[in-house]
Order: sequence, then structure tokens, then C-alpha cells
Amino acid sequence: MQVFKFGGASVKDADGVRNLGRVVQAHQDHALLIVVSAMGKTTNLLEKLVQYHVYGTGNAADVLAEAQQYHHAIAEGLFPDHRHPVHNEVANRFVEIEWILEEPPMDPYDYLYDQIVAVGELVSTTIVSHYLNEIGLKTSWVDARDYILTDNTHREGRVDWNTTTARINEQLPRILENQLVVTQGFIGSTSENFTTTLGREGSDYSAAIFAACLDAESLTIWKDVPGVLNADPKWFDKTELIPELSYLDAIELTYYGATVIHPKTIKPLKNKNIPLYVKSFVDIESRGTQIKSTNESLPVPSFIFKVNQVLISILPKDFSFIVEDNLSDIFSRFHAHKIKVNMMHNSAVSFSVSIDNTGSNVDALLEDLQSRYEVQHQHGLELITIRYYNQQTIDRVLVAKEIIMELKDSYTCQLLVRKL
Ligand code: ASP
Ligand code: MG
Repeated sequence: MQVFKFGGASVKDADGVRNLGRVVQAHQDHALLIVVSAMGKTTNLLEKLVQYHVYGTGNAADVLAEAQQYHHAIAEGLFPDHRHPVHNEVANRFVEIEWILEEPPMDPYDYLYDQIVAVGELVSTTIVSHYLNEIGLKTSWVDARDYILTDNTHREGRVDWNTTTARINEQLPRILENQLVVTQGFIGSTSENFTTTLGREGSDYSAAIFAACLDAESLTIWKDVPGVLNADPKWFDKTELIPELSYLDAIELTYYGATVIHPKTIKPLKNKNIPLYVKSFVDIESRGTQIKSTNESLPVPSFIFKVNQVLISILPKDFSFIVEDNLSDIFSRFHAHKIKVNMMHNSAVSFSVSIDNTGSNVDALLEDLQSRYEVQHQHGLELITIRYYNQQTIDRVLVAKEIIMELKDSYTCQLLVRKL
């Protein structure tokens, strides 16, 4: 059997869902489990809804209406007959959010977030599975929360692999024998049956979990790009498709911020030696990229750009050395504010890191650090990572830029820069 994953961009409108149908129709020679994300920008919209509801900064009911209209329009485009059961089911998916909005927000933010944001995936898969049945493909809608068990870490659920593997193997192979399975990316549930999410863009990871547990022959992620490119086309006019990539290079590239696949996706696949294909849902015959176990290194240098970086330099107040107990204290403060470090450098008396500017939690972190350390910070920087760099590639990215911090090892060069 194989696993396919379709992201939000691939199902952003009725035509997208029809195209998904064509992709699936062209691959009927295998049993297939299909993982789907929320449609278009739904997750962002529902995140906004949570913020408005909890902080009262806007009208949550209006945002809910917008999400409902968007999905109704897609369902209507696909099923013009108003009596079709999909319309009721789509409406019902939002009832949970209506109930939450009726109460004042007493529950912890991250918990509420998961209960609300998960609706995006539940409603998208409802529409997709009805559509596949409509075009004659026998399809079963499966609730990923019945299979993926996580701990109670809301918004970043950690998967309990033993139980998840057992649950998946108990039920799904039998269903897959004579039906397609459509299920949600991004969501799981706790042992008390509360919904959790696996972290933004986590649907790729969900697909890898299902593929690994089912010992799939392969996982294919269908994207709006032709495969893994050596840079995001947003930054370069000319990019190159990488036809083959080792698991290791794929992990390194995603670790440094390549957004083509979620960083957690590779490891479960690598453990089971399951190849990962990244292909275009626009040009479904093209080969795309194959990620597998190989000793070949990347054929071309790859570039990863991260904008909106904050450089934080931390010095002990008494000018003492940066020693292990300071470092462990510093890291625990980063962890407490859910901040991930993109680049770090330490000297005898200072420790510097570059992080994404994620807003209020960065301010809270800075305040927290200032209670114990001397802290300096610089905003508005850009982090450029080059894998398999050489001087020419460095010169290419440094035009009109000034280097603030630079780190090199034999394969990777990281440059934290400021625009001149
Ligand atoms: N819908 C979720 C998100 O946008 C998960 C995913 O797309 O992978 O983050
Ligand atoms: Mg997405």
C-alpha cells in the first residue's frame, strides 16, 4: 500500500479537490491511504478565531462565519444538489466551535486552540471523502484521532508510537483491502480523548506516521512545486530541481528551515526505509524528487532563507564565564517560551542565538532573560543557510548585505545578515 498526502494549497477550492480526484484515479493500482490538511489558509483563519475568542481582540463569530462560508462554497461547487448529505456534515463540523464560542474562554489557550483548529482538517476530509465516493472511488472517512495517540502537550503533541502502531494495524489494513482511506493530517488525541495537534504544518508528519506504522511501500507528498528545489522560488529566479536526495540531506535541509517538508517527516520513514516522493499536483506525470537512503550527496548547493530574525546576545551580569549551568538555565528559558533556536554561537563571556521573531513570546523571553543576564538584541535580520557551500555561493547571497554572525562546518554555512 501507499500513502498520499495533500496539503492545504492542493485543496484550496473545488477545482483543487477535483484535481485530487484525478491524481487518485491515476493511481488505482495500489491500496491507498490519503492524508489531507485543512483547505487553503483555514488553519490561519482558525488561529485568528482562537485569538479573538481568548483575548477579545476581534469578533470570533465573524471569523467563524467566514470559515463556514468558505467551506460551504467549496462543497456547493462540488455537490450542487443541496440535499446531498455532505452539506449537513460540513455544517455539523462547525457546531463544536459554536459551542466553544458560547462559553467564556476558561480553558488553557493551547487546549482551546487544538479543539478549534482541528476542525479545519475534519471538515476538509469530510468534503474530500464524499467527493471521491461521488466519482466512483469507494472511500472510507477515518478519524485520525482514533489512531494517533499523543501526550497532553497541546499544539505540539508527542506521539505514543507503540499504541499508535498497534491501533493502526488492528483496523486499517482490513479497510484498505477494498477501500481508499481518507484521514486528517495534523491531529491526534490524548488518552482522555481530547484533540491534540502535532505542530504547524504537521500533516506531512501524520502521513509519515501512517506510512511507517503500515510499512507502506512509499509516501508521496503532492505539492504546488515540482519537487524539492535547491532554493525557494520566492528568493531566486532560477532554481534547480533535486531529483534524488538522501534522508540525511533532507533532514538537514528541513532542520535549517527548508519548508518543503515538515522536519519531523523524515525520521519515521528512514527508520523503515520507506522512500518519500515529493511531486507536483499540477503536473502529475513529472518525476519530482525521491528521498531515500543513498550515499550520494546533493548535486547542487541548496539555499535556505529565513527572514525576520532576532539576534539575542546573552552575557552574565557579573561578567563571569558562560558555563554549563548558565547554558542549561538559558535553554530552559527558551524552552519555557516555546522558542526554537536557528543558530547559536558561544564565546567565553557571551552566548548568541538567532530566533524567529514570533512576537509576544519573544518579548516575554527577553524580559525573562533580562532578570538574570545582560541582554542585547537586534531585530530585522535575515538568516541564510547554504548546504554544500563554496565561496561563489556565499558571494552570491551577500550582495548588499552585511554579515552579523557567521558559522561554517564542512558542509553547511550559516550567515546571519543585515540588509545594507
Ligand atoms: N493545516 C495545518 C497547518 O496549516 C497542518 C498542515 O497543513 O500540515 O499548519
Ligand atoms: Mg499546510
